[in-house]
Amino acid sequence: MSLPEALLYIDGKMRPAAGNKTYDNIGPWTGEVVGKAADASAADVDEAIAAARRAFDTTDWSSNHALRFELMKKYRDLLHANRDRLVQIARVEVGSAIGAAFRAQVDFALGGADGLLECFPRVTWEEDRGLRNEQGFDTQRIVTHEAMGVVGAITPWNVPLYVNVGKVVAALLAGCTVVLKPAPDTPLMGSIMGELAIEAGLPPGVFNVVTSADPAMAGEMLTKDPRVDLISFTGSTAVGKKIMENGAASLKRVFLELGGKSAYIVLDDAPNFPMAVMSSMVVFHAGQGCAYPTRLLVPKTRYAEACKALEMAYGGFASKWGHYEEPTCIMGPLISKRQLERVKGYVEIGKQEGARLLAGGNVRTDKGGGFFIEPTCFVDVRNDMRIAQEEIFGPVLVVIPYEDEDEAIRIANDSIYGLGGAVVGSPERAVKVAKRIRAGSISVNGGVSITGDLPFGGYKHSGMGREWGVEGIEEFLETKAIGIRVS
Ligand code: NAD
Repeated sequence: MSLPEALLYIDGKMRPAAGNKTYDNIGPWTGEVVGKAADASAADVDEAIAAARRAFDTTDWSSNHALRFELMKKYRDLLHANRDRLVQIARVEVGSAIGAAFRAQVDFALGGADGLLECFPRVTWEEDRGLRNEQGFDTQRIVTHEAMGVVGAITPWNVPLYVNVGKVVAALLAGCTVVLKPAPDTPLMGSIMGELAIEAGLPPGVFNVVTSADPAMAGEMLTKDPRVDLISFTGSTAVGKKIMENGAASLKRVFLELGGKSAYIVLDDAPNFPMAVMSSMVVFHAGQGCAYPTRLLVPKTRYAEACKALEMAYGGFASKWGHYEEPTCIMGPLISKRQLERVKGYVEIGKQEGARLLAGGNVRTDKGGGFFIEPTCFVDVRNDMRIAQEEIFGPVLVVIPYEDEDEAIRIANDSIYGLGGAVVGSPERAVKVAKRIRAGSISVNGGVSITGDLPFGGYKHSGMGREWGVEGIEEFLETKAIGIRVS
């Protein structure tokens, strides 16, 4: 199954990279080439930045709220109309199983675009702050909120459409212009957004997409270039820190969505304890989710019961993953050989640290030429082990026993990260616990805390700023106070 070529989208046109340079787009299911992607040169990136700068400085894009709203509604409708193509890309390029491709990869992103458009009318562009007598005369004051300028959007490969939409749609709605740099592993999910921009009639230069085989070149150019006002980045904490460093010289605004090691706390009064425990399995999209709760915290008093429930759940799942054509399948391969090596490395670390492997841990070459590793669960884990502290970004759950509620909260917060989390227990108590966890999104009793109309982002090393919701549009705005002397 091959995908169309991913082209660059610069200044309103889809085109190949300078010198027709391309690179292979490798499919995670097979490990084989599934398409080609334009490999942007520094000159291509420079042209994209120049186009975005010109569109921001010389057109009415940032001030014409009504035009933007109309065009972005069209753009959203086109995303919906292309659902099947987007699913195909998620399947072949991102390596999604069918059960994850529709839900997490595409419908979640389409719902996110709907959520942002619902939020747009709630954005305040101008506020009357009233009269004030200062220095012996009256001043009428207004506060305006204006687009920040040119945005460099740098995105990862795990849920590429969702993250691309979260940044691009919100930044364009805010009146910014954008250069999107997708991850090298998922170029087409970026490129198709350019193609749809042409169809929607977005003015040239307002939005640009540069795909590149080199993971750092285009992103570093965007980060260091003084013509770019803000970097909106989703990816690893290590690269996030580099972006802050590289952006410092031009005092770049930086918005960061980074890694996570979220906790899933099952309280001893959880209404259906075994079911609550089993729901913590890290299998959906092979665990490649930043806010995925990958540390399961269970009460010591019910630890044996929890281990038994997990043994059953993992046993029952053993034959249910890695099937390309099976509609109910929710777990496929990892994105790349590099990621497979990384996850395999953490399985070895877990064993060396003395954690007990309850399930999985093996690389599965019998599943095909792709990057498959079994759903894996470690029990008898201490929170100071590397497998409990470091982000693995694969299908690996670690299970940690706790003494009482206070200890559960202490363990949950004993992490450099603070992105997501989940609590299951009697409702009132579970909400109280959720409020004490230092993280940006918490699910209580299976509730959904991540949608396009709610703010999403991290505490601590999981990032800064908020994406999605009204907050996600406001992230791209500057604030100005104007005082008008009236007497
Ligand atoms: P990554 O940090 O390696 O890469 C992310 C993006 O940054 C890619 O487009 C990459 O090409 C680019 N990049 C790499 N080096 C760069 C540099 N020096 N300057 C500028 N850009 C550079 O992350 P990844 O491996 O693509 O994705 C996995 C990571 O992303 C995980 O840590 C995961 O937790 C995180 N993630 C976070 C969220 C969130 O919302 N918090 C969502 C998805 C993924």
